[in-house]
Amino acid sequence: MNYISTRTKASEKQQSAFVIKNGLAPDGGLYVPESLPTLTEDLVCVLAKMSYSERAAYILSLFLDDYSDEELKAAAEAAYSQEKFGKVAAPIAKVGDNYFLELWHGPTSAFKDMALQIMPRLLSLSLGKTGEEKDAYILVATSGDTGKAALEGYCDIDRVKIKVFYPVDGVSNIQKKQMASQKGNNVDVVSIKGNFDDAQSGVKAIFSNPAAREQLAKQGLFFSSANSINWGRLAPQIVYYVSAYCDLLAEGELKYGDLLDVTVPTGNFGNILAAYIAKKMGLPLGKLVCASNCNNILTDFINTGVYDKRREFFTTVSPSMDILISSNLERLLWFTAGAEKTKEYMESLAKDGIYTVDAEVMEIIRKDFAGISCSEEETKATIKNIFKEFGYLCDTHTAVAAKAALEYKKESGNKMLVVSTASPYKFAPAVLSALGEDVPADDFDALDKLNEVTKVAIPQNLASLRQATVRFTKTIDPKEMLQSL
Ligand SMILES: *Cc1c(COP(=O)(O)O)cnc(C)c1O
Repeated sequence: MNYISTRTKASEKQQSAFVIKNGLAPDGGLYVPESLPTLTEDLVCVLAKMSYSERAAYILSLFLDDYSDEELKAAAEAAYSQEKFGKVAAPIAKVGDNYFLELWHGPTSAFKDMALQIMPRLLSLSLGKTGEEKDAYILVATSGDTGKAALEGYCDIDRVKIKVFYPVDGVSNIQKKQMASQKGNNVDVVSIKGNFDDAQSGVKAIFSNPAAREQLAKQGLFFSSANSINWGRLAPQIVYYVSAYCDLLAEGELKYGDLLDVTVPTGNFGNILAAYIAKKMGLPLGKLVCASNCNNILTDFINTGVYDKRREFFTTVSPSMDILISSNLERLLWFTAGAEKTKEYMESLAKDGIYTVDAEVMEIIRKDFAGISCSEEETKATIKNIFKEFGYLCDTHTAVAAKAALEYKKESGNKMLVVSTASPYKFAPAVLSALGEDVPADDFDALDKLNEVTKVAIPQNLASLRQATVRFTKTIDPKEMLQSL
């Protein structure tokens, strides 16, 4: 399977190890598979009988054909082991007549683990495959969950160094403590005075700075990214959509061919793009509902065709969705409008902060996508209602999706899969407040109180966090990011 850039027609073709090693294409575009493998009914029925890691190895083998089956099997088994994820890597909870796909049973209690437990192993293998002599230096911009999940994934991986930048006021105290207490000899964590987009723009600027690259090469290092722009992040996310469909088939909740709508709490557009790819491969998915919080730039885009980032930025109770530039949308533009248009749109976004997509293209996009946004009040009310009605506790991000799913379902007769992206304990203060409880000043007291009020178990990694030792405390200006390397 070959990969090409979203921004140049007939760009140089690369294999997956190269693409995973390099992250961004040389023209600034994102790598996309030149064509997509097909999922047939027979294949899905075979996959339905497999474990999660077997499904992962198989689906990844379709995309990463320069990796051997043995390599992928070993990587998937290590990544999705019972020790890391418990018995079932991506279980489905039935809540009323909706299915909640819980993607937060990994080591950091957020969905980013699904990709970031396997991606470092793929990167490690890619260095050998591409004959790379330098070691990888991973730079990550995070709105919270990615940072910790990347740190866990890359911690003490051979020939890799990782540095994480996060917005100082854009993550929860628990997320901060998770990152600041990270173990490992190859990790560093720095906070940025600014929002997530400042951090992300800073990382992008470093990646595209030739002088920085040269300086690093002298130290025997090269830049690589773990953000969801890397194909190595995206490919493993396709797996859980296929896996969810398989599980619903195996449990008799669906018959093959029944369309399953999917609602995804969306930030950088990586998670929902993986659903789109699964659908394009032939998985019987219906509408893909892109759920946003009051940073509703994607809702506006899907409804109007205008992507306009010149707007107020809100800090919300679902911070991992507080985003003005959804990088992976570029891949959807490539699939629907082609490289030449995509390049135009991205240049317009960089220059003027806005682009307008052709009406024909938007018609194609709206066949697969709906965009719905959810206010802070609605998010909180949804957490409370779902807990009261079904005894099911969800986090703030999942609640945004649950609300959007409810709204969309009025238009559709299909069954609905709501993608649940974090443990409620990752956002305990906001969840407690949504339940109408007083919120203790200390985040860790909030964890305990949420446990008392709901009797839902606290994930082990969060329960042990209070005692963890802080190792990283530095805060810098975005302008100092390059210097801080
Ligand atoms: C990252 C994240 C999201 C957004 O996912 P994207 O792939 O960036 O769209 C939603 N919820 C949680 C909890 C996250 O960590």
